[in-house]
Amino acid sequence: MAEKLLSGSGSGKQFAAQQLLALMNEMPGGFFIYRADGNEDLLYANTALLRIFGCETFAELCALTGGSFRGLVHPDDLDAIEESIWHQIKNSQFDLDYVEYRITRKDGRIRWLEDHGHFIHSNGLGDIFYVFVADATEKKRRHEEERTALRTENERKEQRIQEYDKEVSRRQELIAGLGVDYESIFYADLSIDLIHAYRLSRHAGLLFINDPPSRDYSGFVEEYIKRWVHPEDRQLITDMLDPARIRERLAGSPVLHVNYRLLRDFRTEYLQLRIVSVCGGPEISQIVIGARSVDEEIRSALEQKEFLANALEQAKSAVIAKNTFLSNMSHDMRTPLNAIVGFTELARRNIDEKEKSLRYLEMINVASSQLLRLISNVLEIARIESGSVTLNRGTCDLREISERVRKALLPRADAKNLILSLHTEQLRQPFIYSDRHKLEEILFHLSSNAVKYTELGGRVDITLSSENNVVRMTVEDNGIGISRGFLSHIFEFFAREHNTTLSGVHGTGLGLPIVKSLTELLNGTIDVQSEPGKGSRFTVTLPVRPQDARPLSPAPIQPEKLPRGEGKILVVEDNELNLEIAMDLLRDAGFTAEAATDGSIAVEKIRNAKPGEYALILMDIQMPVMDGCTAAWTIRCLPDPYLSSIPIVALSANAFEEDKKRAIESGMAAHLSKPIDIDSLVELINKLTNAEPQAE
Ligand code: ADP
Repeated sequence: MAEKLLSGSGSGKQFAAQQLLALMNEMPGGFFIYRADGNEDLLYANTALLRIFGCETFAELCALTGGSFRGLVHPDDLDAIEESIWHQIKNSQFDLDYVEYRITRKDGRIRWLEDHGHFIHSNGLGDIFYVFVADATEKKRRHEEERTALRTENERKEQRIQEYDKEVSRRQELIAGLGVDYESIFYADLSIDLIHAYRLSRHAGLLFINDPPSRDYSGFVEEYIKRWVHPEDRQLITDMLDPARIRERLAGSPVLHVNYRLLRDFRTEYLQLRIVSVCGGPEISQIVIGARSVDEEIRSALEQKEFLANALEQAKSAVIAKNTFLSNMSHDMRTPLNAIVGFTELARRNIDEKEKSLRYLEMINVASSQLLRLISNVLEIARIESGSVTLNRGTCDLREISERVRKALLPRADAKNLILSLHTEQLRQPFIYSDRHKLEEILFHLSSNAVKYTELGGRVDITLSSENNVVRMTVEDNGIGISRGFLSHIFEFFAREHNTTLSGVHGTGLGLPIVKSLTELLNGTIDVQSEPGKGSRFTVTLPVRPQDARPLSPAPIQPEKLPRGEGKILVVEDNELNLEIAMDLLRDAGFTAEAATDGSIAVEKIRNAKPGEYALILMDIQMPVMDGCTAAWTIRCLPDPYLSSIPIVALSANAFEEDKKRAIESGMAAHLSKPIDIDSLVELINKLTNAEPQAE
């Protein structure tokens, strides 16, 4: 083969060529030449190449490879490298092309070669490739090892990343699970000024723009405080979230928390911030921050606190009120009692001096009425306060009510030479559905005050008007008036203006509180205007339900109009003193009175009576054995119509509306309150017993 390469040359040239071949044979790297034609015949291979293939001679190599480049290369690599070679040649005609491929040695072992070749055209040999090769098996193995090592390293890294991701998502689940109550959960690394949100409330979410939501811790804290935290709590939260302070405090406590207020949707909401450290070790930098709404808890705690504070305040004022009440009562009761005791003593000492005695007795009478009024008012107030006053609604005739009030006050007005006028022209809806007695009580208290606090010769105007389902009751006087300072206290219990007390006008300071309470019970309002020395005007405004016409009032249970003759009055009373008073008063008034000391005795007396024997029964309510109402009802059920229809009048210390109602419902004709007003009693007895005898 070497001849082929040397043929056609001069002897000088041949020598040089031989020298060259010898040199090539001695080259440490492999070198060969092959034709660049279809067969790619091998033209030359140096000794180093033969060694690579494990052959002794070129012939041995040709026998192993078929004498061609194609036979040299491992069949699996052939196509790829040929394409690569031609491609490289096309791109550069001057550089060596480079390929790597495997070969199969004579001993069957596979080796890797690095191939640097070049295509040239020689006049003698035509198109040829000369190629430098080096055994790259070791290098390849080393590379392979390095690659494998790298791959393993990458795979490990990848695995670590996956494990980390899994850990992160596990932690997130854990955080989410533990933090169900938290509307925002953050992880922050204070050492690198980073905050990452695991869960975000709507308002905190507005401060993150990237996803996953993370940003600078300091910037977030500043914005959050400025934008959402209540101005009064900003300093508190600034301190709480200050990294240095967090480190300092977390060193001494595993968890920090603070409650603060947030301004959200134009309302204040209470939130709690909790901070825990999530890294062990002395240097605290990684923390978890949670924010949860504690609005309901705090508000109910505040309400509770307020409630307790109010309760305490109320308890205190109740004690004060009780003491004031007792001291007022003590004073106001002792005053008339003192008069009663004192004048009684004076009357006793002067019993022979008729004039004097009568005057003392008159004074006792005045003081008694005063005491009675005080007791009635106090009881009324107590009942209103305890909520036991109920409305007893029905058809009310406002004209009739106001007329009754005027009539009741006329004697007092006349005594003072006052003009007491009633105006009902503007009363477009005189019939209303309301509580008759409460309306009367309101109007009476106001009008009685007007009469009381107006000096001789003055005037009092009671005006009632109604329009659009609203009734207005105005009581106006030109009396002493009320000072500005006292006006704001006028509805307080026992409040009486200094000038009133000094002037010696009797009063309890309970009338107006009663009026106010009753007005409010009827859903109304009361207004007062007054000027000292000029007069006062009280206006009660009530929403009402008008009634078109007066319906027939339920017929009271009337005794049958049977002849009563000159029958006796049966006084049913268990209290000895009261019994004696009633009997004596009745006898003094010309009646024949008989006593029964409880309801059952009365029933027996009537059951066994002859018709006409008893003209009327005066019945106490609270009694042992059988109470007045039961007794009245039992009498009403007697079979004899003469007996069952005897008029019964309740005479009781139970003077409330409900007591009257109960009495009437149990068949009594009327109800009078104790103490006995003998004039009213006689008037009532005459009215009830003055029945026309019925024609047989
Ligand atoms: P009293 O029993 O003292 O009249 P009230 O509660 O009815 O109690 O009234 C409280 C106080 O209001 C009275 O003591 C009086 O000082 C003042 N007052 C009430 N009505 C009038 C009025 N028409 N003119 C002047 N002062 C009045």
